[in-house]
Amino acid sequence: MNTKGFTTGLVHADRNAGVEHGALRQPIHTSVQYGFDRVEDLIGVFQGTKKGAFNYARQGTPTTAALEAKITQFEDGRGTVCFGTGMAAISAVFLTLLRAGDHLISSRYVFGNTNSLFGTLRKLGVEVTTVDAGSIDAVAEAVRPNTRMVFVETIANPGTQVPDLDALGALCRDKGLLYVVDNTITSPALFRPKTVGASLVINSLTKTIAGHGAALGGAVTDTGEFAWQHYPNIAEEYRRSNPADWGLLQIRKKGLRDMGGSLSSEQAHQIGLGAETMALRVGRSSDNALALARFLQGHRAIQKVHYPGLESHPQYAIAKKLFSSSSWLLSFELRDPARMIDVVNRLQLPVKATGLGDTRSLVIPVAPTIFFEAGPEVRQSMGIADGMVRLSVGIEELDDLIADFEQALAAA
Ligand SMILES: *Cc1c(COP(=O)(O)O)cnc(C)c1O
Repeated sequence: MNTKGFTTGLVHADRNAGVEHGALRQPIHTSVQYGFDRVEDLIGVFQGTKKGAFNYARQGTPTTAALEAKITQFEDGRGTVCFGTGMAAISAVFLTLLRAGDHLISSRYVFGNTNSLFGTLRKLGVEVTTVDAGSIDAVAEAVRPNTRMVFVETIANPGTQVPDLDALGALCRDKGLLYVVDNTITSPALFRPKTVGASLVINSLTKTIAGHGAALGGAVTDTGEFAWQHYPNIAEEYRRSNPADWGLLQIRKKGLRDMGGSLSSEQAHQIGLGAETMALRVGRSSDNALALARFLQGHRAIQKVHYPGLESHPQYAIAKKLFSSSSWLLSFELRDPARMIDVVNRLQLPVKATGLGDTRSLVIPVAPTIFFEAGPEVRQSMGIADGMVRLSVGIEELDDLIADFEQALAAA
């Protein structure tokens, strides 16, 4: 049956794919090996002529494949490869598609561990330039003859900067560059990067897609927008099939199979369960975040609120145009940074914890924790003030959240 609605398609996906006994959910397949009656079929699996068969669980199981199909559907993509974490997905994209001497342009405002990974890439001989991707001119000026890829996040954590996603898509199309978009903060419930011409979409499944904070996972989705036949770094052995499959084939073989950051069937199942309520959770937590952002902006103890849904945000217009809402991520700075630790300690509902996109609100002071290792220079270049507090807003009742912030800030 063909369904248009995001959640309608999602909650009926397993059943519609045909599960034995009429089960509504794909079971958890724990087998590592998959056997065949005829050796010709085993040979066919190795030679890529027998499609849809499983072989060894490092490269996928029926359970991870069911999750991949769902994510492909979320992103309106051509195919997806799942990994054990979001970082495994990101590192697989960089390490399988870039070579020494290639050039990568990234937004300056990216996840801390992604930024740290750029240091590793530089040591392997990949040139990495970081720019303010809110300025299309800055990105265009950074393009060199050896540039292969542009990497951005939809809403940056913790500063909530939004790149000029539409214009970047046009630039990448024009220059033949791979356009890789980390959609973790918005999630496919709020935004599909394919609509701005993204080539590959990355999601950390650990965050909004699972939502419960009980499983790690990552995914790379090919949108079908990129012409792989023009990409130089595809190995000869993967150039035999339909060019539209080359990119993901190389990511699955060189990234998942050889580097081994595989997602287990148990975790894939947990993520799939959480994903069924993604749109509901994201709707509620985003509504909460907007109301909290407005409340905080009007509070005398607050210096600044970073949230793309506020008209004061520099990329308010882009966020309003592209995203169905501005997500559950916000950060704020206190007028008196010396009060930060005390205010965070006084909060009773948000859990003092790292992590994002959970059903529970999570709060963390940024400079002394997630951006401590980066050092003061990197923090300054990324616009991270010493008194910045990050909030991943959950699905609690709004009145409870506001009341908690009111009491915590009263002393500030
Ligand atoms: C959390 C996160 C990642 C990494 O995901 P893990 O599943 O924790 O490895 C990557 N990008 C962004 C934007 C994230 O928030």
